[in-house]
Amino acid sequence: MVDPNGVRALMELLATAPAAGIFEGLFYPSQVRGIAETAGLVVEKTPTLEDLARELLSQRRTTSGGAHEHLEEPGESVPREPEPWESNVCPAPGDSDILPLQQLRDSLAQILNASLEDQARRRQVALLSVEFELFPCIDHEGRHAIRSRRGDPAARIAAVLVPAVAALVVDGQLGRVRRCAAPVCGLPFLDRSQDGRGRFCSSSCSSRARARRRRERLYGG
Ligand SMILES: [Zn+2]
Repeated sequence: MVDPNGVRALMELLATAPAAGIFEGLFYPSQVRGIAETAGLVVEKTPTLEDLARELLSQRRTTSGGAHEHLEEPGESVPREPEPWESNVCPAPGDSDILPLQQLRDSLAQILNASLEDQARRRQVALLSVEFELFPCIDHEGRHAIRSRRGDPAARIAAVLVPAVAALVVDGQLGRVRRCAAPVCGLPFLDRSQDGRGRFCSSSCSSRARARRRRERLYGG
């Protein structure tokens, strides 16, 4: 079964790839956040300047041992960091998370490339799983899940997208990942049509293309 969130996030990520005449389209941490959210991850909020100042102040207080120092009560429990398999939280993305996600995107695009040999495709899936330290587990709700031992956003996203791509391969749906044929769209999409001959990413794109064909017939283009 292909995870629908995974497929949506995969298409969103692939849409940022540079293509003929189009430049690199992934350059903001907010895009990383958007893709992580589409993938179903809970993305931590980006700290504001105010948050940072507050944190800095509280650090200074504890190190200088001032009157405001918060002394830990003997019985007080320190909140435990959740283990990677217990949560699907993704840290707030920053500038340094953009390049790893671009690289993940390009590796995934390579796997989806129809001209790649099956053997090389299987190898690539395994190599990515090792690189991002992915492992199968049972999550906090008792479901089977794939998680990463790495905590960075690219790895958290990889834990959703690598299995999604592997499922597409296993289900024989590679040929259904294509680009929308509508003028000025061209976005990657997964063709879910019965006959596998869908050419458009959405119904609005297909009706736009239909209207254009009608116009061309009436007015000769
Ligand atoms: Zn489209």
